[in-house]
Amino acid sequence: MKTLKMITTAILAGMLLFPLSADARKKTGIVAHRGFWNCEEAGYAKNSVAALRCAQEAGFWGSEFDVNMTSDGVLIVYHDSDVEGKKIEKHPYSEFKDFKIKNGETIPTIDQYLEQGKKYPETMLVYEMKPHSSAEVEDKFIELTIAKLEEHDLLDPKRVMFISFSWHMCKELAKKLPGFTVQYLEGDKNPDKVNEAGVNGIDYHFNVFNINKKWVSKAQKLGMTVNAWTVNKENNMEQMFDLGVDFLTTDNPLEARALMEKMNIKEMK
Ligand code: MG
Repeated sequence: MKTLKMITTAILAGMLLFPLSADARKKTGIVAHRGFWNCEEAGYAKNSVAALRCAQEAGFWGSEFDVNMTSDGVLIVYHDSDVEGKKIEKHPYSEFKDFKIKNGETIPTIDQYLEQGKKYPETMLVYEMKPHSSAEVEDKFIELTIAKLEEHDLLDPKRVMFISFSWHMCKELAKKLPGFTVQYLEGDKNPDKVNEAGVNGIDYHFNVFNINKKWVSKAQKLGMTVNAWTVNKENNMEQMFDLGVDFLTTDNPLEARALMEKMNIKEMK
């Protein structure tokens, strides 16, 4: 009886010294949104090869980038669906090839981008497939994406994961590439709905999780991964860390890293 009391006291003392909330927290991965562009070395150019390189060199868990497809099936790393008013999917690559982004690079093709991507095997490539005009076009986009990843020896769930606002593409990717992480971006479906469709992750705006606080743990209980975008302010980062997201996507990855240290959260690398 006495021993039992001693053990109980010791456990209680341990809980006081090491609060479970901080100690039991698993690791969280930082995803640099459109690469680590927010620095001089990248020339502040989102989705540039330099921004990917900076994210790799800084050792963040992942680096996110946006991909669009031209009318002649060239995949380019660019956020908007048009370049100076020209719809990317309606025009051939030749009409975009000379366009310069903020740091003087031309818009990276997927080949140029993946060439840099494969140099750092420990950096997860968070491949965002931008929605296109129809399921047919999106299916072609998926096919070309898989072929390019194969060509660059990157068709590996440890190297690449997918995110998309297109529900159609998320479901197709999940079907075609079992074992890969696919996260849906829109935020309009609860974890059960996403899981039932075979899609194994959610990547929602942080306010969606602030409103639906249980979605983070609910998704994780279903075996899904949870990512939050685009979390740039310290108080919002803190909210997401408190909810226990697996990944935090941010334009300010160094600030996220510093906050994690302050909050005693381990960084997934
Ligand atoms: Mg994106």
